[in-house]
Amino acid sequence: MDFGFSEDQKMIAELAADFAKKEIAPHIEEDEENHFYRRDILTQMGELGLLGFNIPEEYGGNGLGWMEAVAALYEIAKVHTSWRLSISGNVWGPALTILEYGTEEQKQAYIPGLCSGEFAGSFAITEANSGSDVSGMKMTAKDDGDFWVLNGSKMWISGGHTSDIGLVYAKTDPTAGGKGISCFIVDYNNTEGVERIPIHKKVGMWPAPTSELVFDNARIPKANLLGPLNRGFQICMWMLNNTRMGCATGGAALSAACLEGAVQYANERTQFGQPIGKFQMIQQQIAEMKLEDEAALALVYKAAWLKENKLPNQQATSIAKLFGSNAAVHAANLAMKIYGSYGYSDEYPCGRWLRDAKQFEILEGTSNIHMGIVAGIELGYQPNR
Ligand SMILES: Cc1cc2nc3c(=O)[nH]c(=O)nc-3n(C[C@H](O)[C@H](O)[C@H](O)COP(=O)(O)OP(=O)(O)OC[C@H]3O[C@@H](n4cnc5c(N)ncnc54)[C@H](O)[C@@H]3O)c2cc1C
Repeated sequence: MDFGFSEDQKMIAELAADFAKKEIAPHIEEDEENHFYRRDILTQMGELGLLGFNIPEEYGGNGLGWMEAVAALYEIAKVHTSWRLSISGNVWGPALTILEYGTEEQKQAYIPGLCSGEFAGSFAITEANSGSDVSGMKMTAKDDGDFWVLNGSKMWISGGHTSDIGLVYAKTDPTAGGKGISCFIVDYNNTEGVERIPIHKKVGMWPAPTSELVFDNARIPKANLLGPLNRGFQICMWMLNNTRMGCATGGAALSAACLEGAVQYANERTQFGQPIGKFQMIQQQIAEMKLEDEAALALVYKAAWLKENKLPNQQATSIAKLFGSNAAVHAANLAMKIYGSYGYSDEYPCGRWLRDAKQFEILEGTSNIHMGIVAGIELGYQPNR
């Protein structure tokens, strides 16, 4: 394993950091207050090539791989974690999955737009009554001549009402459990029978839109089935093993943001005639944050390196996601303590860090689910794909 950064990796990380500083940071307070999703950020990311990772240039990709992708996502998420979803929602969700499973027509129709930012992407698995238990989903897709007819609803979908193109998982054989799920490419702007309802109230990730989707006899052209019929569960797990890198990297980035903030505050704030950073107990908190932050990032790069080299990486991805989630929540908690009452005010971002950190324990497999994957592979109960 070589974590020495290439010139490409350094350049893309600097580009992403510069973009986040100029285009995301100035709007954070306003967007947080208004729960406002800024679509032009996605467009600009596309223009800069920040949505083209892992995709060949012939389909509009930037020719860069996993190491560059996590380096860029890390810089963006450090400024505001909601914007990490642009890379997961466009690239690692729809674009990469279409690249792996799609027909040539599907690749040409959707991937370039997802990479350029012309299309916003999403993926819809979760329903009100099936989250961790993906194979328990109830949404159906019935064969009707040249179309699949989708009925049912999806819940908690990131970018559900703001996306143009989404992957939607539904049962094509409701009697077959996980073996009866298929994956569909839905062109939301040209599909009737889909009501997209924004979820306005949630604990954090305020500028990141989340939605409920209701499909009422929505007709999807036959050509939009992605991959083989009834193979949706495998496609979904393959996709999640990629999108989870967004959570892993986002968790590491959020923990770094908390650490940077806490270090600065501990050096500035004085009590008892000296900076609070001089107190041993504050130092212990800073040391804990630093240990976990370094480890979280190293685990992200390990998983990215395995992916880059096409080696088994499912366990490493789950470890990185699980550890990154824990590091983010712990760091946000400690930052709030170090900032004292100012941390509890809205003058500093501690409240946002804490609210946003909790997402990582839930999305794309809860922490329990990832512990199950890590242990299941370790015990030999499942292969490490
Ligand atoms: C902000 C946000 C954005 C999201 N974006 C998307 C998206 O873009 N697309 C999408 O499809 N979904 C999305 N989700 C949904 C998310 O992936 C699910 O919420 C998640 O998979 C957990 O499902 P659940 O909430 O139904 O919890 P449940 O599955 O009901 O779990 C409840 C509790 O039981 C535990 N549990 C469940 N099963 C087991 C088990 N086998 N062993 C041990 N413990 C278990 C869980 O760990 C958890 O603690 C999003 C959610 C949020 C909050």
